[in-house]
Amino acid sequence: MTNINLNTQISELKGVGKTLSKKLNALGLKTVYDLIFYFPFRYDDFSRQVKIDHVKENENVSLVGTIELIQNKKSWRQKKYITEALVSDDSGTIKVVWFNQAFLTKTLQTGDTISLAGKVKYSYGQLTLVSPQYEKISQGKINTFGLVPIYSLSSNLTQKQMRFFVSQVIDLAKKIPEWLPKDLLKNLNLMPLSQAILQIHFPGSKKSVELARQRLEFGELFLRQIKSLIAKNNLKKQAALTIDFNEKLTKEFVDNLAFTLTNDQKKAAWEIISDLKKGQTMSRLLEGDVGSGKTIVAAIAILNVVKNDYKCALMAPTEILARQHFHTLKELFKNYSLKISLLLSKALEANFPLEKSRKKQKEKIYSESDIIIGTHSLLFQKHPEKLALAIIDEQHRFGVAQRQYLSQNKQEKTAPHFLSLTATPIPRSLALAFYGDLDLSIIKEQPKGRKKIITEIISEEKRDQAYNFIKEKLDLKQQAFVVCPLIENSQKLEVKSAKEELKRLKEQVFPEYNLGLLHGRLKSQEKEKVMKDFLDKKIDILVSTSVVEVGIDIKNASIMMIEGAERFGLAQLHQFRGRVGRGDTQSYCFLFTSQEIKSEKTFKRLSALSQYHDGLSLAKIDLDLRGSGDIYGKLQSGFSELRLASLFDYELIKKTREEAEKIINKDPELKNNPTIKEKLGTWERNIHLE
Ligand code: ADP
Ligand code: MG
Repeated sequence: MTNINLNTQISELKGVGKTLSKKLNALGLKTVYDLIFYFPFRYDDFSRQVKIDHVKENENVSLVGTIELIQNKKSWRQKKYITEALVSDDSGTIKVVWFNQAFLTKTLQTGDTISLAGKVKYSYGQLTLVSPQYEKISQGKINTFGLVPIYSLSSNLTQKQMRFFVSQVIDLAKKIPEWLPKDLLKNLNLMPLSQAILQIHFPGSKKSVELARQRLEFGELFLRQIKSLIAKNNLKKQAALTIDFNEKLTKEFVDNLAFTLTNDQKKAAWEIISDLKKGQTMSRLLEGDVGSGKTIVAAIAILNVVKNDYKCALMAPTEILARQHFHTLKELFKNYSLKISLLLSKALEANFPLEKSRKKQKEKIYSESDIIIGTHSLLFQKHPEKLALAIIDEQHRFGVAQRQYLSQNKQEKTAPHFLSLTATPIPRSLALAFYGDLDLSIIKEQPKGRKKIITEIISEEKRDQAYNFIKEKLDLKQQAFVVCPLIENSQKLEVKSAKEELKRLKEQVFPEYNLGLLHGRLKSQEKEKVMKDFLDKKIDILVSTSVVEVGIDIKNASIMMIEGAERFGLAQLHQFRGRVGRGDTQSYCFLFTSQEIKSEKTFKRLSALSQYHDGLSLAKIDLDLRGSGDIYGKLQSGFSELRLASLFDYELIKKTREEAEKIINKDPELKNNPTIKEKLGTWERNIHLE
C-alpha cells in the first residue's frame, strides 16, 4: 500500500476485492486518479456536533459517546431485527436504534467510543437517534461529522465504502499539478486545484465547498472554451467552397411546398445560405424542438449546394431514419432531377440505375449522386469528391463528430461546410460555451396549427379504457405507436418483449386491426417494408422498441403509447412523444408503467410531461430531479464531459469565455501555456475513450 500513486489500479487498494473493483469499474472508475475525480453531488450536513443533553427533536446531529449497552431484539412481528443501544457522554445518555442490521452487535460493542450522526426523533416518549451513521472513533469521523459527501453510486456500493476508498487516496490530490496560469488564479481568486479536490470530497465548511466547486467548474468550462476557440481558429484557416445563393430557384421551391415556412425556419435557412456564400467554412448547429421542421431547412441548403454543382451528405443516427430522409428528399425534390442515393452497410439504393456489383454500385453512388444519405457511419468514410455540405441529423456530440469528420479527410485542401441538426435543448449561453466554434440557428416556433399533445399517465385499471379510446381513433383511420420498455444492455431481450407485446395486442386487444413490428434487429429490407406499410396506412398500430425514438415522421399517427415509461429519461420520452402531433390532428401520449409508481420522483418526472411540452423546460426539470451529478443522463453523453459545471450558469460561461479569449488571442498555439496544452490533451483523450 505504500506505493500507490495516481495511476494505481483501484483493484490494488486496501479492501477492494474483485467484486468491488468490478462495481467501481462499472462507474467508470479504474484508477486512483478516477476515484479522486469522482466528485460527490451533495453532502449530509452533520456539522452540528452536540452534547447528548443538547439534542433536539428533528435535528440532524453529530455526537460522540460511549456504548453502555447494545443488543438485538426481534420486533413484535418476529420479522425484523432491531438493534438498540444506549450511548452516553459526560452530559447524558441517549437511546439509539437501527433496523435490520443485526450484524451491528458484532461490529459495535459495549465500551466502544463511537461517533454517530443522524436525525433525532421522539419514540415511545423519549428522544431517540434513529438509524444513524456510525463509526468507531478510532477509525476517524468521515461518515459522521461535518459535511459528509454523498456520491452517485450504483446499488451494492455503499457511501461508507466509497468514502473509505476516497479517504485512502485523497492525499495524492496534492500530486495533481495546477494547470491554470498563476495570474489567472490570483486575479479571479480561485482556489488551487489540489485544495479544491480535497475540499470537494471532505469540505471544511459550506463556504469551502462553494469555493472548491467554483474552481473546478471554472476549470472545466475554461478548458472547453479554449478547445472551441482553437477549433474556431483552425476552421478559419481552412479554405472554403463558396456556394452562391440561387434566389429564384429557392423561392420557387419554397412556394411549392405544401405549407408555409415559419419565420424561424426562414431565418435559419437564411443564416445557413449566408454562411455558405461567405467563403469561410460553415460550422453551424440548427437547434429546434421535436417536430419544428428542421429537415426542410436543411433541404433548402441542399438545393442550393447541388445547384452549384457540389454534393451533399446527410447522416442520421439510425438506418430507419436514413431511409426516411431518402424518401422525404426524393419526394421534396421530385421536380428537380437531383440524384439522391442511400448508402447503408447492407443496402444501396438510388433514384438512378445502379450497377450489379456492390463495389461498382458504391463507386457510382460516390461519383454520380448529388446527395448521399446514410447513417453516422458515413462520418468515417472517405468524402465523395466535390462534397460541399455535410449534414448530420440528431447528433448530440456536435463538436466531436465534426472534428472527427474533418480530420478523416485532412489531405483535402478545402473542408466541406458542416451543419448539425438537433432537438437537444441547449440554451444559447451553453451552446456558446460548449460549442463556441459552432454558430447557432434556433427554431423556436412550431409550425402553425400544431396542437399540444395530451399526455397522461395511465394506471393499470384504466388500461382497457385507454385501449377503447385508441380503437375509436383507429376507426377514424388514425394510427398509433406502441413503444416497449427499455431493457438496459440487452437489445435481444428488448426485441423479445416487443414480439410478446405484439402477440398479446394482436390476440387479446386489437384482433380486428393490423399490427406491425419494428426493431433494430430486423433486416434492412424488412425495416423498409414495415415503415412503408405504416406510412401507407396498411398498418394501424406499430409496435416498436426504442428505435423509433428519433426523427421518424408519420403525419397521420396520433397516438403514442409508451410501456414501462419509468425506464426512460425525460428527454427520451419527449422524443417519443414527438413522433405524434406532427400534423394538425389532436394527438395523445399515454404513459404506462411496468409497475405501480412508488417513488414520488418517478411520478413527478412523468407528470412533468403532461405539464410541459418543450424540451428545454423538461431538461431543467430533469436536472432538478436528478441533481447536477447526472445532467442529461448518459444517453446524451456529449454533456457528460462536464462533471460539475452548471449548464445554466451564464455568468460563469461568460467569464470563462473571456479568460479563454485573452489567452488564445495572445498565444493561439498555447506555446507559452504548456500546462493548459497538456491538460487539453489528456482531457481530449479521456473524452474519446468514453
Ligand atoms: P424535426 O424538426 O423534428 O426534424 P421535421 O423536419 O421532420 O421535424 O418536420 C416535422 C413535420 O412537419 C414534417 O412532416 C414536415 O413536413 C412538417 N413541416 C415542416 N415545416 C412545416 C411548416 N412550416 N408548416 C407545416 N408543417 C411543416
Ligand atoms: Mg428530424
